Amino acid sequence: MLVLTGPIGVGKQRLALWLAQLLLCEADGAEPCSRCRPCRLVQELGHPDVHWYVPIPRPKATEPGKQIEEAAETIAQVMEDRRAKPLYGPVDGMSSHSIAAVRLVQRQAALTAVEGRYRIFILGEADRLVAQEGADVAANALLKLLEEPPPANLFVLTSVDVRRLLPTIRSRAVPLRLNRLTDAEVREFLGAQPQPALTPPELEARVAAAQGSIGAAIGTDDATGKAYHAAIQLLDAVLAGPGPRLERVIRQTPWAARGEFSAMLDALADTLSEATRETLGHAAHRPVPERLLRHRSPDPLLKAMAHVAEAREAAWGNVNPQLLLATLSAELAAVL
Ligand SMILES: [Zn+2]
Repeated sequence: MLVLTGPIGVGKQRLALWLAQLLLCEADGAEPCSRCRPCRLVQELGHPDVHWYVPIPRPKATEPGKQIEEAAETIAQVMEDRRAKPLYGPVDGMSSHSIAAVRLVQRQAALTAVEGRYRIFILGEADRLVAQEGADVAANALLKLLEEPPPANLFVLTSVDVRRLLPTIRSRAVPLRLNRLTDAEVREFLGAQPQPALTPPELEARVAAAQGSIGAAIGTDDATGKAYHAAIQLLDAVLAGPGPRLERVIRQTPWAARGEFSAMLDALADTLSEATRETLGHAAHRPVPERLLRHRSPDPLLKAMAHVAEAREAAWGNVNPQLLLATLSAELAAVL
């Protein structure tokens, strides 16, 4: 099992597909040839032995068998969309790898390779794997599959941060870290896009804001920016004391959408992770509140990240976001 980590939008899932091509290519070169039939099928997201799973909304059906079918249909639809539009934005904050999706992985992994060679299972944003909701059996079965994959089966997981993965997965993963791209690479990529044409100042502003992420550079809306803004506001309120903290919890409700709340939690986790980097003497990629750095030790920040991870899991369930925010902000205040 391989885990590709790195910031949002630097091409982790793209690299996973490239690895699939490399394994299946008929030319057996150091790089996939991009011309043979398997190479082209992978490129067109149509290779029968390459299974790409992405977080999806929780299936609506109640019966487990129906849920799996629904998950399969939803993923097929996402792949159809990506075939039509290869550059995709971030998935909705409420999407996850639900138990139904996990069962789908198991079902497909139980079959043999259609073309008789390797099979590659790509699990994008694997930190959105839901391990709870009383479905330990499915989660454990997946873990077993990841630990001891059948011969000629490769599992490639992607995640922004390896620390967000379930501990059982993390301990067995071979991590491979992808770095941010350079400004020159982002500029070149944006320059090659036919639509929309950017004026030079617009291009430079976009390159600067992207901070080495193609995903951020092509972000069609400012949802990510809004999520980071909300996360910083929350941290400021937490660090300012009980009064501002409570005020913030009361003021923030109701959330326009649960997805927005989840996106804020993702941004919060990322901000804390950046603060950890800075505490450890590396340069942060995003501005972090000064007061987060006063501990000079990563421990409080890691504890805070664990609380955010718990809140994130709870947010996928049916917990009221305001209640979650009240609990989370008190937990953060206690450790930060
Ligand atoms: Zn090839």
